[in-house]
Amino acid sequence: MKKSSLNDQYKKPQPSSSQSSSSSSAANGLTQASLRRANVNWDEQGQPKSEEFDDFYFNTDSGIDESRYVYINSSRLQQRWKAHNGSFTVLETGFGTGLNFILTWLEWMSFQDSQPLSNASQPASNKDQQVSNHLHFISIEKHPLDKDQIAQALALFPQLKHLTDQLITEYPLLIKGFHSLQFKDQHITLTLIFDNVNAALPQLNGPIDAWYLDGFAPAKNPDMWTDTLYSSMARLSRAGSSIATSTSVSDVRRGLSSSGFELNKVPGFGLKREMMHGTFIQGQGPMANPLDHIKPWLKPPTKDIRHIAIIGAGIAGCTTAYALARRGIKVTIIDQHGIATEASGNPQGAMYAKLAAGEATHSDIYVQGYLQSLRWLHQHLEPGDGWDNCGLIQLASTEKETKRQQKFIANTHYPKQLLHSLSREEASKISGLTMNSGGLFFPEAGWVSPLRLCQQLVKHPLIQLQTRSISELVDVNGDWQLKSTDGTTEPENTFSHVIIACANQSQKLLPNCYLPTKSIRGQLTYLDEDECDSQQGNKKKINLKTVLCGKGYIAPADNGKYCLGASYNIKDDETQLRASDQQKNFDYLEDFGEEFQHLHRKLNESDPALLPGRTGFRCTTPDYLPMAGPLLDEIAFDTDFTAIRKNLARYPRQEAQFHSGLYLNIGHGSRGLTSAPLCAELIAAYICEENFPLAKDHTEALLPGRFFIREMVRNKR
Ligand code: SAM
Repeated sequence: MKKSSLNDQYKKPQPSSSQSSSSSSAANGLTQASLRRANVNWDEQGQPKSEEFDDFYFNTDSGIDESRYVYINSSRLQQRWKAHNGSFTVLETGFGTGLNFILTWLEWMSFQDSQPLSNASQPASNKDQQVSNHLHFISIEKHPLDKDQIAQALALFPQLKHLTDQLITEYPLLIKGFHSLQFKDQHITLTLIFDNVNAALPQLNGPIDAWYLDGFAPAKNPDMWTDTLYSSMARLSRAGSSIATSTSVSDVRRGLSSSGFELNKVPGFGLKREMMHGTFIQGQGPMANPLDHIKPWLKPPTKDIRHIAIIGAGIAGCTTAYALARRGIKVTIIDQHGIATEASGNPQGAMYAKLAAGEATHSDIYVQGYLQSLRWLHQHLEPGDGWDNCGLIQLASTEKETKRQQKFIANTHYPKQLLHSLSREEASKISGLTMNSGGLFFPEAGWVSPLRLCQQLVKHPLIQLQTRSISELVDVNGDWQLKSTDGTTEPENTFSHVIIACANQSQKLLPNCYLPTKSIRGQLTYLDEDECDSQQGNKKKINLKTVLCGKGYIAPADNGKYCLGASYNIKDDETQLRASDQQKNFDYLEDFGEEFQHLHRKLNESDPALLPGRTGFRCTTPDYLPMAGPLLDEIAFDTDFTAIRKNLARYPRQEAQFHSGLYLNIGHGSRGLTSAPLCAELIAAYICEENFPLAKDHTEALLPGRFFIREMVRNKR
């Protein structure tokens, strides 16, 4: 495997197109590489057995009792949850059938039921100090079972069906990397990482409170039980973290003890003679500087969470509010115009992942984001009410695009359910039109009304909305008061955290931060469906069944209206509709097959100025990835980390300074539907001190301060 250089992320020249990226992740294994599905054999009783490891996934007499005995009870979860503030994280090596997860979830539900303020819909606002009451279960799996195999295995436990069904609904496609799964109205997150344990652990930031070392016994699977595993465990644990495993072999005992775990050998389950559980004693193992593993600029200091404000009620702001509220945190969203009025106000946004061969970081992040968004859409919107997963074809309408798509398909290993190539004939059949080209088909993609999604998300009882225009953030002893444009502040409203999610307006609120975002004007044209049909005369009527993306995009008509767009104008702040841009949008119709080409000719005979439409402004970044994360204090960083100008790898192992409790979630360009839910979960993870929902390298690729750091590394400042 190619070695990654720490400098890659920062040293590459600025990309010049949306296909470009700066990345080190192609080298770290978290790429578009292939993943091998588990080979499962089923015995006569229907018990699953791994062919790779020649062993059963769980005890064939009583999988449930074994899991409870070895992992849940010996980790003393109920007792520890009672004494725990904030998010509690379990990490399991080997997800297998998900049985350990389901049983831990059940245990968590019974714990929550025993708590007075356990319900997500009950505000915890009467307490001054809010705690995030959240279980994060991370499981790493090298050979995942697919949905059907999981369903078959867990069908052995009909008493768990109410949870199993939810897991199966949310269970991801078998794509290498991180998948962060949320379950509606539940204070639980499951992060599934499809990768080898030893490759995935270095991509985590911790802390882990309970380790379930599953993954088959060392005799069957020696490759998993490595020094990397033990040293990663020491790095990611905190004082009192527990470990439970059904093995007690001396190599494992030695590995764990020398990494700082105090261990007890106890009788094993069933016929097994012994197992181990234990506790991490900080300082007992070798002391590494944690900043060797997590760069200081990814580690804002911890801060008590009280009330959180989000400025901007577009898709970035509303998804972030929901990610926090879901964790029991009270959030106020403030926007001068109300919900989803600016770039998020387009009636139909195309939702898919724009991918490029050889650009692993972009593709990995957008695929992960796309899958995350799909799960959110299924949870929050009814099909037909602002959301239609009618599929989307990214058309190969030029020779260049055809070659790009061919290269992409040849070099990646995505499952067909995510995307696949279509011939011209197939594209015609699927789209309902007479197409001139084939393309890449995303069968689960479609269009979304960002407004409907935002409206649904802000219904959460812990989310409040305020309509006012903020002009300044006032630092009051490390907390924030928000000054309105009319000069007033609400002194009783001091926020521990503020998330700035107001796209192009953010620069005004953060005059001292380096935010190299660009505003790009986009104009949409609305076409009346009946009118379009009548223009067809005796030609075949337009019966568009999927979203089409060429140079522009068009979606199936909603409420009798097609949405065609969008123009792309840099350095242009004209808010009024422009006839010349309507004309440009008409030209996009050329990519969309014979019926739309005919319509194009007809529209060219009419006056484009008479057609309705809408203007919005995208907020883009130089590398076409969002800026999502904490805000570095760049002035202090410039001094404290000046050494990175000579060698980034020799960055000082000291804390970086941040603007206390300030976060940014902007720069989603025209892909907010794909990137916003994932970035929302990322920001909630930073604030609640959870493991990131993305690989550490990908988190770094989204860090708002990356442009500042890049300029320092290139000695440009
Ligand atoms: N916890 C599971 C459950 O509740 O069904 C059972 C896990 S099964 C005993 C062990 C799992 O570890 C298998 O699914 C196997 O593919 C996975 N595994 C083995 N070696 C691994 C490695 N190096 N990295 C990640 N997963 C691994």
